[in-house]
Amino acid sequence: MTVAADVVVVGAGPTGLLLAGDLATAGVRVTLLERRADADAHMTRSFAVHARTLEVLDARGLADELVGLGRTAPVVGVFGKLELHLHRLRTRYPFVLITPQYHVEALLERRALAAGVRIVRGADVVALRQRPDRVEVETAGAGVHEAAYAVGCDGVRSTVRRLTGIGFPGRSVVRSVMLADVRLKEVPADAVTTNSNAYGFASLVPFGDGWYRAIGRIAGDERPDDAPVAAEELAVLLRRVLGSDYGMHDPRWISRFHSDERQAVRYRQGRVLLAGDAAHVHSPAGGMGMNTGLQDAANLGWKLAAVVRGRAGQPLLDSYERERHPVGRQALRVSGAITRGVLNAPRSGPARRLRDTALPVVSRFSSVTALGERLLSGIGIAYPAPRGSHPLTSRRVPDLRLAGGRRLYEVLRGGTFVLVTHGRPVPETPWLRLAAPAGSLRTTLLVRPDAHIAWAADDPTGAALRTALDRWPVAAP
Ligand SMILES: Cc1cc2nc3c(=O)[nH]c(=O)nc-3n(C[C@H](O)[C@H](O)[C@H](O)COP(=O)(O)OP(=O)(O)OC[C@H]3O[C@@H](n4cnc5c(N)ncnc54)[C@H](O)[C@@H]3O)c2cc1C
Repeated sequence: MTVAADVVVVGAGPTGLLLAGDLATAGVRVTLLERRADADAHMTRSFAVHARTLEVLDARGLADELVGLGRTAPVVGVFGKLELHLHRLRTRYPFVLITPQYHVEALLERRALAAGVRIVRGADVVALRQRPDRVEVETAGAGVHEAAYAVGCDGVRSTVRRLTGIGFPGRSVVRSVMLADVRLKEVPADAVTTNSNAYGFASLVPFGDGWYRAIGRIAGDERPDDAPVAAEELAVLLRRVLGSDYGMHDPRWISRFHSDERQAVRYRQGRVLLAGDAAHVHSPAGGMGMNTGLQDAANLGWKLAAVVRGRAGQPLLDSYERERHPVGRQALRVSGAITRGVLNAPRSGPARRLRDTALPVVSRFSSVTALGERLLSGIGIAYPAPRGSHPLTSRRVPDLRLAGGRRLYEVLRGGTFVLVTHGRPVPETPWLRLAAPAGSLRTTLLVRPDAHIAWAADDPTGAALRTALDRWPVAAP
């Protein structure tokens, strides 16, 4: 059996679901192939959704519903006592949202199905052939799927990456991390309870439904993933690191895992692209993996849709790797720094006391932690801009208020470019045009569908606009 589509997406994790939904919303015929037969059989890994991801979901009308399903943490601790004050971020979502990954996946799947994505479960991709005009994706159990492009969103052990011959260099960074979902008899005071000391590190995170995620590692423990974990071993760790095990009981599952730091050398090979964990993986410290994957998908979706529909050429598709590969590398660096900070926590009493006294003081100086807040939340992500362009070019656009009371992120749900004018006369353009309220903006902005600034001008003359039209032909209908 051979089935045709415009794009085949492999992997119905968060990355694949968002990408497939975006493509279908833009009018592209998408098949989403998923090895698992059962949607519910996916154990949750992630629980932190950062501000930029919530903005991405807001531009799809999903953020407020997701926020309603979780708990918000405006301050998070890293390295035990160093605090990041996310409430200082200038965004509609000045916090990290604590909610299990299955809530994110359920919303994205509902949207993808409503947009017309064909989800095929029990479809294990086993072979992939690139032809001059198409890709053939062969599954065990669900036939062969042909499309103009295929995107591997099939996770860290990506078959698509392997079959395409893209290298995934890196190394193992931390072993023997214990992970369990438990019930507690006492409710911890903080949204996220975390600490590290000479014995190890531990965190407790609420899922909001009575279950808590416990994560921790005994310092120096190098046991392999298949070494059994006893609930009592985890309870002792919580007592020694957090000061209490909060009456931990009834783990629904418990396991030991190791973490790698790896990145694909390329995100594109001909008609095949990679996104999410298939393209980059790092330790869960900082909670950036799913967030980075969702943002990959948001960058790729509108570009691939424009190319498939003949409204843009290959350079636009190539810009996906140019923009997102450095962001993936940065996620590896940030999570690596947090991991090493936690693993190398001072062992001696005096050094620990010095750290515990100094870090809360450091946290109060916003310039010291502001960078960390912007990096972790994703709010600070900007893409490389062409030489000589306006300083705002390629930066994230905030959720501007528009004349008439609408928010920019609500308008972006239409999936098109938006020209936001600032009171100066602007020549005719083909873009959807909206005005900012008088005096609220000093620059006219052309906003991409992924809420980054395509082009900006303080004085939007006809010549300046022609530059924008040349660079973004995709924006014209
Ligand atoms: C303990 C832990 C905690 C974490 N916490 C966070 C956090 O708080 N915040 C955060 O942002 N990230 C976190 N992460 C990382 C996050 O879980 C991943 O980054 C995220 O799941 C990646 O999503 P994805 O869609 O790219 O890949 P995946 O979620 O791995 O999905 C890939 C999909 O592809 C399917 N698939 C695989 N091979 C094939 C094939 N051959 N054919 C068809 N289908 C296939 C799989 O069945 C799967 O459904 C954590 C990870 C761990 C381990």
